Amino acid sequence: MNIYDAVVIGGGPAGMTAALYLLRAGVKTLSIEKMAPGGQILMTEEIENYPGFPSGLKGYELADKLSAHLEDYPHDKIMDEVREIKVGDPVHEITVGDGQVVGAKSIVLATGARYRNLGVPGEQRLVGKGVSYCALCDGNFFRDRVVAVVGGGNSALEEALYLSRLVKKLYLIHRRDEFRGALCYQNKCFTHEKIEILRSTVVDEIVGDAEVQKLALTNVKTGEKSSLDVEGAFIFVGFEPVMSFVPDAVEKNVHGIVTDVEMCTNVPGIFAAGDIRAKMCRQVATAVGDGATAATSAFSYLEQLGD
Ligand code: NAP
Repeated sequence: MNIYDAVVIGGGPAGMTAALYLLRAGVKTLSIEKMAPGGQILMTEEIENYPGFPSGLKGYELADKLSAHLEDYPHDKIMDEVREIKVGDPVHEITVGDGQVVGAKSIVLATGARYRNLGVPGEQRLVGKGVSYCALCDGNFFRDRVVAVVGGGNSALEEALYLSRLVKKLYLIHRRDEFRGALCYQNKCFTHEKIEILRSTVVDEIVGDAEVQKLALTNVKTGEKSSLDVEGAFIFVGFEPVMSFVPDAVEKNVHGIVTDVEMCTNVPGIFAAGDIRAKMCRQVATAVGDGATAATSAFSYLEQLGD
């Protein structure tokens, strides 16, 4: 079994930053990522709030820059999914998809979060047939068509604005009257000529045979039922941390992995960074900060461990 001083799991901004800091500190590091480096930013069209880029930059551009920076420090990589982590003292064992097992004196968990499902009839069956969780990936299929976006957070508002450039008409459906997304996005959506807002409305079912045809809706204030003809349903109702492979010994709650401000979990040698953590603010800037902090904590831990 190959034993590394540090293994970083996840190749989004948090993971790439953690790996960069560890490698720059001369730590023998392995990074594991199941897909291309970048994580969620690959699905983000424009990042407008990453400091230092006043004109914004494309998600894939930032992913490329982070990845190129990391490539300045050659290191071992595995492109596969982590299946299991066995907590050890001081070496933890990580099993990846092909059955390979590697040892790690320290681990940075940075697998991020994925979009939450709405959980209504028709949703799973019609994924890829009109139901989507990524406007950037699938928006083009809906040029000049009628779609709905479900949700009231920043993702729903941003993705609605992106889609409104492509589609003929967009219904933004939110279960409450107040939106939790940023005011600047709210104002743009509320005044957009192609966007119609349906407040206090929930989706009961996504209806269609081969493709999405309509949504069955209920107004939660009046109880009134209605049907809305749409060809696409984009669901943005929050994130769920990706942590099914994280051992029971690591403390978690419904929002993610619990850490202290130094990104330490309750298990010695295991750290967490980015959207996998139980935290309020999920931004590229905070992910990068988490990654740097986790790496610094892992470095201190390894120094205390000695050899
Ligand atoms: P979010 O902020 O948690 O919003 C989720 C939205 O979905 C809420 O409006 C929620 O309604 C609604 N919702 C949840 N479950 C639902 C259900 N079963 N049925 C109908 N509606 C449901 O999630 P997010 O928009 O994906 O954003 C996640 C995090 O990333 C946030 O911290 C956000 O600020 C951040 N983010 C930031 C940016 C940016 O700054 N550019 C962009 C995207 C995301 P309620 O409001 O009623 O709870």
